[in-house]
Amino acid sequence: MHAFESLDVFGGAAGLDFANTVDGRGTDRPVDYLPTYAELAAWSAYIGLVDTADAERLGRHDAPATLRTALSLREAVFQVFHAIGQGRPAPVAALDEVRQRYAEATAAARLAPDGAGAFTWQFEGDDPDRAWWPIAVDAVRLLTGGPLDRIKVCAAEAGCAGLFLDTSKNRSRRWCTMDGCGVDAKVKRQATRRRNRT
Ligand SMILES: [Zn+2]
Repeated sequence: MHAFESLDVFGGAAGLDFANTVDGRGTDRPVDYLPTYAELAAWSAYIGLVDTADAERLGRHDAPATLRTALSLREAVFQVFHAIGQGRPAPVAALDEVRQRYAEATAAARLAPDGAGAFTWQFEGDDPDRAWWPIAVDAVRLLTGGPLDRIKVCAAEAGCAGLFLDTSKNRSRRWCTMDGCGVDAKVKRQATRRRNRT
């Protein structure tokens, strides 16, 4: 089992899920669940961005430079969507990095039917960068197509900073997961209520 399998996948978009592979960003001890290139390749398969056999082949690369590129992209994606989720302008440098990686990804892609009546970017071959190409494409699709008004940052005070697309009907979702930060908040509310009663 990979360490990242213990993380909840709650983003609702590959780019957001990628940003969420650092857990507890707002705390003193954030945990990075993608410490090696092999883990990055395995995660891409886990999320469904690369098929399993291809990811296994990719994972045999020792590609520290590719990992650095991917993790830099991850920070840029986080900064852009974290700002959007908080109603702030997206940082220019981060936005430009996402654009640059998207340009590299689409330069390596081909356009192919997606099986549902449209075309999509598809990736082939054993270039190690293939592990992050679909993430750059997904992040730009979300940026250009939205719905950006549904992007939220987990409201947990403990510093979760998880990013997600709120697809609830009345846009009322506040937590990354109800049984994670949602429960923590509920416990805290109850404790406050108990304190106020006495
Ligand atoms: Zn959370």
